[in-house]
Amino acid sequence: AKRDGRGNFRFFSPAMNAATHEHLMLETKMWAALERGGFEVHLQAQVSLETGRVIGAEALLRWHDPELGSIEPSRFIPIAEESGLILPLGDWVLARAMALLAEWQHEGLGGLRLAVNLSARQFGGGALLSRLDQLLAQHQIDPSRLELEITETAAMRDPENTRALLRQLRARGFKLAIDDFGTGYSSLAYLKLFAIDRIKIDRGFVKDIEHDPNDAAIVGATIGLAHSLGLSVVAEGVETQAQWGFLRDKRSDEAQGYLFGRPMPAREFGEFVRAQAQP
Ligand code: C2E
Ligand code: CA
Ligand code: CA
Ligand code: CA
Repeated sequence: AKRDGRGNFRFFSPAMNAATHEHLMLETKMWAALERGGFEVHLQAQVSLETGRVIGAEALLRWHDPELGSIEPSRFIPIAEESGLILPLGDWVLARAMALLAEWQHEGLGGLRLAVNLSARQFGGGALLSRLDQLLAQHQIDPSRLELEITETAAMRDPENTRALLRQLRARGFKLAIDDFGTGYSSLAYLKLFAIDRIKIDRGFVKDIEHDPNDAAIVGATIGLAHSLGLSVVAEGVETQAQWGFLRDKRSDEAQGYLFGRPMPAREFGEFVRAQAQP
């Protein structure tokens, strides 16, 4: 930043111009993609550590642009958040998820649960409850099949508001999970105030679980405390058999990661689950 003649900082540099340019370009393309069906939801299996069975999935956004190719959520979600586009985009994901749950119900996969990521903006926006009610009525699904994931950081932004909204969502019958647990500033004791069902242990703690005694201790203690508060636990980013073994020994309830399956198109996921269900 440079000082201009009036003593104000000017935040322009060639590098920043390029970044702003890229943001604008991606934002424009995202709006178009939203209108033309350029987004897709992929599903990643969540597996019971006790039975090894798929119990549900997490819905993850995918964006393929005809010119740019596939763009990672870590690149486009922050821009969507910043621009407000995450509201219509997140709404599209919710509608897609409810439609998938209705399909599953008709196809004999009604026992599966589907988890959807909510951005802080969607969560704090005030329109969430009525929109969910509308989608429930439209698709006639059992609300307990839908799990809403909010990150620890988003939940802690306005804890009083979070507490009230979670209670209302709970009353509707939705399942609630705290995502990326352990990466923000909170404690399980605080989370006890929130009406949640599950915590998702962040991949960062799972990655070195076999080699890092600190991570192993943190994960073990988190699972124990969560259970003592009546919460179930999903471990994210499970890639190896050794991680699976560790988590099973520590009595984590579920796991999610490349070991069982990458995020995949919805149709493939249905086949994946059916193949597993064969004796
Ligand atoms: P997240 O909610 O923590 O999702 C888990 C991420 O970890 C996903 O990345 C998933 O593909 C990846 N992952 C799963 N298993 C493994 C594994 O074994 N190893 C490794 N290395 N990675 C694994 P993805 O799909 O790129 O999404 C990144 C983030 O983008 C998500 O993190 C979430 O914060 C955000 N996101 C994705 N879809 C949505 C959405 O519909 N709405 C909102 N608000 N955010 C979304
Ligand atoms: Ca998530
Ligand atoms: Ca996560
Ligand atoms: Ca994450």
